[in-house]
Amino acid sequence: MTDDGAFRVIAAITTQTVRDAIDAQKPPTASLRERFADLLTGAILVRETMAPGLRVQGFARGADGRGLMVADSYPDGGTRGLVQLQGGTDISFAPGAVLQMMRTLPNGAIHRGTVEIPDGNSISGALMQYFQTSEQVVSMAAVGTWIENEEVKISGGYIVQLLPEVEDGPLAVMAERLKDFESMMPMFNQGITTPDAMLFELLYGMPYTRLEESNLEFKCRCSELTLLTSLATLPPSDIHELIEGGEVLQIACDFCGKNYDLGPELLRGMLDKS
Ligand SMILES: [Zn+2]
Repeated sequence: MTDDGAFRVIAAITTQTVRDAIDAQKPPTASLRERFADLLTGAILVRETMAPGLRVQGFARGADGRGLMVADSYPDGGTRGLVQLQGGTDISFAPGAVLQMMRTLPNGAIHRGTVEIPDGNSISGALMQYFQTSEQVVSMAAVGTWIENEEVKISGGYIVQLLPEVEDGPLAVMAERLKDFESMMPMFNQGITTPDAMLFELLYGMPYTRLEESNLEFKCRCSELTLLTSLATLPPSDIHELIEGGEVLQIACDFCGKNYDLGPELLRGMLDKS
């Protein structure tokens, strides 16, 4: 936060989280990998900015409702994602595509905000729109990912939040500076690859205090129990059939791909409970 109380800045480098999530989901095109990465970073930034203690899920739905990307970020910094294609190899960000951020409040209520993804723009533009309209946070934000030769070289983003004390002078300086960083690439090209270096660049010449740091990593939350719960939507007769067949059901987690063997006794236990 700047010492004059004008700006709060959150900077995130998400390279390893993004690499691991891409490894798990294998989006088929570079464009999809890039937007998936940016969605993961976006959900992390929304969580860190608005609700560090809550789980935040980000969804990008393709135009015509075809295709879905999910980012799922938890207070411990563990984040995972999902890419669901519905035919074809792409999820279109043509008009009609939307970005949605969702979190469950401690009282169980769901806070959900949805914005259209601006045409020709990617997650970055939608994210700024989201902060403005769904969170009423006046801010400037960008997320970006540099992919070269199929490899994520670096991924990250920032948000500069304008606080109520901000005065015209510092605001003009900041607005001018951020024109250079509407995209993350200029920053990456300058070799700025750590959150501290991003803070220094964004707040150059403004006295500021560095408040907190938190770790980020790719982390799935799956277990035998979560997989069993997902089976609960099957008709009981199907479960009975599996049990009577005596076979071990092999099922993979959609998020991380880990395989689970669910034997008849586990399935029987599930039926007993329901
Ligand atoms: Zn998993």
